[in-house]
Amino acid sequence: MANNIQAIRGMHDVLPEQTPLWQYAEQMIRDALGAYGYSEIRLPIVEKTELFKRSIGEVTDIVEKEMYTFEDRNGDSLTLRPEGTAGCLRACLEHGLLHNQVHRLWYYGPMYRHERPQKGRYRQFIQLGVETYGMSGPDIDAELILIMDRLWKKLGIRDKVRLQLNSLGTIAERLAYRETLVGYFQEHLDELDEDSLRRLETNPLRILDTKNPAMQNLVANAPELMAYLGDESLKHFNALTETLNDLGISYELNSRLVRGLDYYSKTVFEWVTDELGSQGTVCAGGRYDGLIEQLGGKPNYAVGFAMGIERLLALMETLGNVPVARTVDVYMIRVGETAEREGLRFAEIIRNEVPGLKLQVNCGGGSFKSQFKKADKSGAEYAIILGDDEVSRGEVSVKSLRSEQEQQTLSREQTCAFLQELCRLA
Ligand code: ATP
Ligand code: MG
Repeated sequence: MANNIQAIRGMHDVLPEQTPLWQYAEQMIRDALGAYGYSEIRLPIVEKTELFKRSIGEVTDIVEKEMYTFEDRNGDSLTLRPEGTAGCLRACLEHGLLHNQVHRLWYYGPMYRHERPQKGRYRQFIQLGVETYGMSGPDIDAELILIMDRLWKKLGIRDKVRLQLNSLGTIAERLAYRETLVGYFQEHLDELDEDSLRRLETNPLRILDTKNPAMQNLVANAPELMAYLGDESLKHFNALTETLNDLGISYELNSRLVRGLDYYSKTVFEWVTDELGSQGTVCAGGRYDGLIEQLGGKPNYAVGFAMGIERLLALMETLGNVPVARTVDVYMIRVGETAEREGLRFAEIIRNEVPGLKLQVNCGGGSFKSQFKKADKSGAEYAIILGDDEVSRGEVSVKSLRSEQEQQTLSREQTCAFLQELCRLA
């Protein structure tokens, strides 16, 4: 083994036995987004480094220490995307999609951050990103929350997540607050850890997001941003909370919710869970109207969120029994030369006649006994059996692999009808 090449630390394979859970979650996600009329956008994984520096912000964790940045053969600085918001907006600006239009978009795929790998924190991880443009809200802010509320319910994990809300106000409001906050922390310099001392200069609001238990008290007593919000920001926030009240969606106000990225304004929210230890944020987002101008567009509106799929799946796994689709419904056993040839032909007929059926044909020969073992292992519900005897009579034996139901002998037409019924009932 020592000489075998292994995967990169923090980058994981999803093995065949795990993919049904992924596919199930992905299908539910697509259905939920479809129910609100969202369109998929597909974006490159590599972008110019400048894009992330300009959007995420030079002094954020991501840009300071987490990006996979490299020079390509032309000497350009490129970066594996650490998140999707910047690339999505870049694409929409580049293709003129933001001019007098509204958009509801989603994307799904790998993101890359050079973090310390641990449970729920990887170097390659999958995110669902949802972004909307051109709507000033707060109804659209609420819609994004509704999508997730619906998805949690469909996945049976609604009671495992809580919604936390805050407002970051406008840039001007945040600047005024920042001064007060810096003043407060300066009075308690001896209580700040190394990271926070550095952030005091660069990004003091991020100190509020510290995970250091020794600083929780200090942070809990810090002045609150809400008191610095102007009329417009307050109106927006109150309208959002009223809408959520109206829809019966409960939330917690968290004045220390500041998010790691620089570009947010007004609404920010996180869906958190207590079931995954310290990696408890499953989904996070907010409004980032200012980013469009920052990337060279005309003033506009934007709000979105991203969900970490590994954390979502970990949460689903706490349920124990997650309903996932079988890979194989029916396994065809072929024993004998004629049966092998006829079997392949009949399998194609079945696939024509029974759309949706997952039929696996035994390949590589073997005795009845060894093929039955493989049939059982495939997870199939039924085996259909072709021996040379069956073939000469134009018949097929059908045997349940999961119940005591007796083996039946059917004609080929009857077999197709039987399998059609099986699919109809599924
Ligand atoms: P955290 O505070 O956990 O580092 P973040 O603020 O960096 O999260 P975002 O950039 O908002 O996270 O990303 C949105 C979601 O993507 C997170 O809530 C989480 O579910 C997921 N996520 C972020 N980083 C990772 C990672 N390294 N590994 C797995 N999932 C991640
Ligand atoms: Mg992070």
